[in-house]
Amino acid sequence: MRRMVCLNPEEAFHIHTWRCGHAGDEREDAYIRTAMYLGAKQITFTDHAPFPGDSFRGRMKMADLPEYIKTLSELKAKYQGKIEVRIGLEAEYLPGFLAYYEKLREEERIEYLLLGQHFYELAPGVYSFSMKEKSGQANGIIRAELSGVESGYFSGVAHPDRSYRYLKPGETADVGLAKELIVAAREHHIPLERNLSSMETGQFYPEMFWKHCPDDYLVGLDAHSVSEMARRYHEAAFWNEMGE
Ligand SMILES: [Zn+2]
Ligand SMILES: [Zn+2]
Repeated sequence: MRRMVCLNPEEAFHIHTWRCGHAGDEREDAYIRTAMYLGAKQITFTDHAPFPGDSFRGRMKMADLPEYIKTLSELKAKYQGKIEVRIGLEAEYLPGFLAYYEKLREEERIEYLLLGQHFYELAPGVYSFSMKEKSGQANGIIRAELSGVESGYFSGVAHPDRSYRYLKPGETADVGLAKELIVAAREHHIPLERNLSSMETGQFYPEMFWKHCPDDYLVGLDAHSVSEMARRYHEAAFWNEMGE
């Protein structure tokens, strides 16, 4: 079988910032300078996107979005020719917010929308994080990822397999659904991300998910501090070298 290849070996991809409230307080300039030191040719910031109304936790506030874009735009210009700084956001696909995704798409300074499905919409205004029963949520998240891939708003899928952490003992993942996601991503030319944070925390699922995926992949550092970025950049190089 052909060996799967990392699509972005010289990129510090999937970087968060202080704005999401659960990352270190280093500024973006420190991430960029460290990425250059590591030998990266490109760094892509994908902080957790705000949503209108600011009703979800663990992300920047809507009011901070203009400053995020402005700061990164200035740094993009400052480091031009040295390292490519890309401005992105990580967001869930929630069908109740289609008008908002349209607005994000119209903002041409936002170059990359990364699908990070941490929860999903059950009905307008009702979300899976309010469910007491966790069984079924792993498949629910994959189904939402599938809709996100088909929506056309996203350029990559962060940790497509992480939802399996919600599997209850004895509950099995729907392999057919995982395969459906993998095929849809391929057809839409949207790469899936092998996430270094998931690997470190035991939420990476080669048996349940990746063995079904014969496609080249993105490596995402999912870094919430400069030291995490540096450590995972080296880990990624190691994994790519090992071919797994
Ligand atoms: Zn985060
Ligand atoms: Zn992330």
